[in-house]
Amino acid sequence: MRIAAAVLAGILPTVALAQTEVSLSQATQDALLHVLAHEIGHAFLREFDLPILGPEEDIADDFATVYIHMMLPDRAGAIIEARARQNMADGEPAEMFSEYRGDDQRAGRSVCLLYGLDPERYEDLARSFGLDGETAETCRDFAPEVGRSWRRVIEAYRMPAGARVTEVDANFADTPIARAVENSGLMEPAYQLLAGIDWHSSITVAVEPCDSGAGWSRNGRRITICEAYIQRFEDQLGG
Ligand SMILES: [Zn+2]
Repeated sequence: MRIAAAVLAGILPTVALAQTEVSLSQATQDALLHVLAHEIGHAFLREFDLPILGPEEDIADDFATVYIHMMLPDRAGAIIEARARQNMADGEPAEMFSEYRGDDQRAGRSVCLLYGLDPERYEDLARSFGLDGETAETCRDFAPEVGRSWRRVIEAYRMPAGARVTEVDANFADTPIARAVENSGLMEPAYQLLAGIDWHSSITVAVEPCDSGAGWSRNGRRITICEAYIQRFEDQLGG
């Protein structure tokens, strides 16, 4: 709306109008589903006061991978591949006191975990990242334990099948990128992920103009995904 008004006022060249229509590549949409699941992981831990017995960012990453494997089985391979490629494109190394692992490690952990959850199905995915031999064996060894542990914890908070979902909401800024997210095929699987948990109060996902990444705010019970982050994914994966 604001851009259209500016065009009318002659402030912006008409070419800006063309730029108001943006669409997201499939890979960006896939990677964003892992980001959303990671933030759902933080929300899940915090909303239900679950014990945080290790680095929370690692816990949220593992939750995301297991939860996607559970909820979106037909899409899990593409989602993990896209997010892992995006992590590798970021390529930040691990820092001594950072709460995050290095980006290559984050990518490797997700690929390893998904592969180990179903080695037959994800063997090609593992190979495409160079995961084989003894390293692959390690993944096959620990992933079923991690998967089982999460399934047991999640099971206690799952929304019963067929229940009416009232505690999930979405908010989109009136901007080209937020509209692109809203109108993409992303919202249906995103809703599926959010609505899979029996939240005790309303959880909102917001896509808005901001420069950081994505985050969970306990005060507003809100998951925010910044447009700059989505643009970065598109630059890294869109071509
Ligand atoms: Zn996080």
